[in-house]
Amino acid sequence: MNIITSPEDMQKTALALRRAGKRIGLVPTMGFLHEGHLSLIKLARRQANVVVLSIFVNPTQFGPNEDFSRYPRDFERDAALCKAAGVDIIFNPVPEAMYPAGYSVHVEENALSKGLCGASRPGHFRGVLTVVAKLFNLTLPDVAVFGQKDAQQARLIQQMARDLNFPVTIVLAPIIREADGLAKSSRNTYLSPAERREALCLQQALKTARRLYREGERDGQQIITAMKSGIEQIHSARVDYIAIVDRDKLQRVQRIEAPILVALAVQIGKTHLIDNLTLPEDGLSNLPE
Ligand code: AMP
Repeated sequence: MNIITSPEDMQKTALALRRAGKRIGLVPTMGFLHEGHLSLIKLARRQANVVVLSIFVNPTQFGPNEDFSRYPRDFERDAALCKAAGVDIIFNPVPEAMYPAGYSVHVEENALSKGLCGASRPGHFRGVLTVVAKLFNLTLPDVAVFGQKDAQQARLIQQMARDLNFPVTIVLAPIIREADGLAKSSRNTYLSPAERREALCLQQALKTARRLYREGERDGQQIITAMKSGIEQIHSARVDYIAIVDRDKLQRVQRIEAPILVALAVQIGKTHLIDNLTLPEDGLSNLPE
């Protein structure tokens, strides 16, 4: 396994691989890897000869009051996990190399990025799209894998690849969960034992939505109200948003008639957690019964 830190070296290596006829698979991450990331690597390996995993805690996608400096980092552990999982190249640049002095070009999306996490995290998706566009140009992937855990992000990246003509196939990976159903996240390490138990309220709310949907409820607001009232019982939980949106445009729907995404973000103590459910279920959300 090769570890590359310089963007120029990464691009040169990727160009040489492409010229040699290799298919490159990219898995972008912020590190502190868990089984969710490992499942993305597995999918990339199936579709590519060379798997590049990027580890970059991207400063431009964090707001001023967010957790950029305390975001968990452990490169040695990540490298060992990557090696065992069959990653060929880790790309691990420093922020100054990705955003040199005078950096001034960004990628902005003006429809899908406005709601859900985009509404409560201004500038977040501009940072995400910018860094992913740069990673595409540096690693020249044939295929790039993103997790349904960040459903809005995945949808936005599909849109960016289409609208900016990146010659890359975007593959979506199902949500990987802990044994008790909590969606795996590097941020789960912030939770105290009591908060860890309370964090189950996100999937409980999604289960409420699924139960009502299965019983025939099609009024979005009824479902949201029921989800909210469950979370309001939880001491450390503060709802950021609960939304029912269509799968394509991510716009709120009142009456559920086509496939939808039920998405929520909840602050547990100081930790921002997200989760989601696709209805009808298609295996992407992996919500336990
Ligand atoms: P992150 O390191 O949190 O930025 O995540 C890197 C990639 O892993 C993104 O495409 C995420 O959607 C994906 N990911 C994170 N957590 C999970 C999970 N629990 N299951 C599946 N994919 C995940």
